Amino acid sequence: MRVLFVTSEVAGLYKRGGLADVSYSLPVALSKKGIRVAIAMPFYETISSKGAQCVGQLAIDYDRRRELVFIFRMMLPHSHIPVYLFRHPLFDSYDAKDIVERFAFFSKAVAQLYLYSAETLGGPYDVVHCNDWHTALVPLLLGEQGKIGYRERGTIQSTLVKTVLTIHNLLYTGETGASIGLKLGLPRTLFHPFMTPLGRAVRLLEEGFVYADVISTVSPTYATELMRGIHGAHMPALMKKRGDAIIGILNGIDEDVWDPKTDVALPVSYDKQTVHSKKLFIKQALRKAVKLEDIPVPLFGFVGRLEARQKGVDLILKSVEKLDPDTYQLVILGTGNKKLVHRLEALVARHKNIVFIHTFDERLARRIYAGADALLVPSKFEPCGLTQMIAMRYGTVPVVRKTGGLADSVIDGKTGFVFGPYTSAALTNAMNRFISLYTKSPKVFQTMIDRVMRVDFSWRNQADQYVSMYKKLME
Ligand code: ADP
Repeated sequence: MRVLFVTSEVAGLYKRGGLADVSYSLPVALSKKGIRVAIAMPFYETISSKGAQCVGQLAIDYDRRRELVFIFRMMLPHSHIPVYLFRHPLFDSYDAKDIVERFAFFSKAVAQLYLYSAETLGGPYDVVHCNDWHTALVPLLLGEQGKIGYRERGTIQSTLVKTVLTIHNLLYTGETGASIGLKLGLPRTLFHPFMTPLGRAVRLLEEGFVYADVISTVSPTYATELMRGIHGAHMPALMKKRGDAIIGILNGIDEDVWDPKTDVALPVSYDKQTVHSKKLFIKQALRKAVKLEDIPVPLFGFVGRLEARQKGVDLILKSVEKLDPDTYQLVILGTGNKKLVHRLEALVARHKNIVFIHTFDERLARRIYAGADALLVPSKFEPCGLTQMIAMRYGTVPVVRKTGGLADSVIDGKTGFVFGPYTSAALTNAMNRFISLYTKSPKVFQTMIDRVMRVDFSWRNQADQYVSMYKKLME
C-alpha cells in the first residue's frame, strides 16, 4: 500500500509543535509496517537545501497569474522516506499574514502535481493523508481538478485515490475570505461559505470535513468530545450529514527520537535501570543552567506553546500564587501569546523559585523532560498532547487535566496526577498532591517513576490502527 502524507511541518526539517513530531514519527512507523510512504510539504526558506534534488516543476494558475512551483526531493533525516518539498516564494515563510491563502495555493500545487504528474511525487498512491486546515483543501482539489482532468485528458486518476483528513487541533480552522475559491479557479458552489462582519468567509478545515473520505483525530477521547460538540456545535451536525464518525487514534512518540539513553542534549544518559541514580544529577545541571537554587524540593516543568485558549497557562499563573514557594520550583519554557509572556515575566520577577525561558529550544526542552520531577500539562483541551508522553519516557511524572489525549494517556495516582475541573484550585490541589508524594513518600514516588517509564507510547500499536483505517478505506 502507498500513502502520500501531506503536511505543513515535519520534525527535523521544520517544527512549530506536535504536528511536526507526528508528521515525522507516523510515516516512519508506517514504513516499518510495510507501507510505502512519502511526505509532501512546503520548502520553507529555513530548510537546508543539502541533499535536495530538483525533480520537477509545475505551472499553477492562482489569483489570475500563472505561478511556477519547483519540486525538490530529499530523504527524511535518519530514514528511507522521501520528502517532496514545494518551492515558491509564497512558501518561503510560515509567518505571513495571508498564510491561510498560501496553504490553499500549496494544496492546489500538491493536488495538481498529483493528478497531472503523480510520478514526479513518486506516485501514484492509494491514499493521500492530509493534516489539519493547512492541507484540508487537498481532497476537494483532487476531486475537482480530477474532473477537469477527466474531461480534458480522459484520465480517471482522481477516482482511484482515497483521502484521509486528520484533525490535530480543531482550534485552528484556516478561515479566510470566500474569494479564495475564485483565486484557485474553482466554482463557488463547491464551498460552504458563512457570513462574518467582514464579509463571506470559508474555513479550509470544514471543506476537508465535507470532501475527505475519512476523518480521524489524534485520541479517542478527543474524537468523542468532537462528536459531542464540546469544541464546536457544528462538528456533530457535519458528521451526521456525512453519516459517519470521527475515528480517534492516540498518537505515539518515536522511541528513538525521544530516548534518555541516547539523548545527546543530556549531561548523562540513563534508562529504566539507572534512572534513580542519574536523574538528580540532570536536575542539578538543569537548575544551574536556568539559575535555580539547588535545594531539596521538587522541580516542576512546563514545555509548550503559550496558547491562551488551550494550554492552561492562566491556571499555572494563578495556582502558583497559592502554593508555598519554599516547597517547590518551576521552570517554564514556551513562546506564544504576548499577554501571557508579560504575565509570566511579572510572575518570575516576584518568585525566585520560578523561571521562565521565552524561546523555542529543543535542547532545553529535552533537559526539562529529563531534569524535572513532574511536568505540568493543565490544558483546557488537548487533542492528544505529546509532552506528557515524552516526560513519561524520561521518567518524569505528568500532572495533567482530564481532557482529550491527556485523559487517554495518564492514570491518576498510577502514572501521574489527573485533575478534572478547569480551575486553579484543582491544579493547585494536584500540584500539592505531587509535592506531598515527593517529600513524604519517596519510595512510592520512585515506584511511580518506574511505572511511567514502562508505559508504551511507541507507534507500534497505533500505526496498526492507521493501516487498518487505510485498508478499510480501500475496500
Ligand atoms: P502542540 O502540538 O499543541 O504544540 P504537543 O504536546 O502535541 O502540543 O507537542 C508539542 C511539541 O512541541 C513537543 O515536541 C514539545 O517538546 C515541542 N515544544 C513546544 N514548545 C517548545 C519550546 N518552546 N521549545 C522546544 N520545544 C517545544
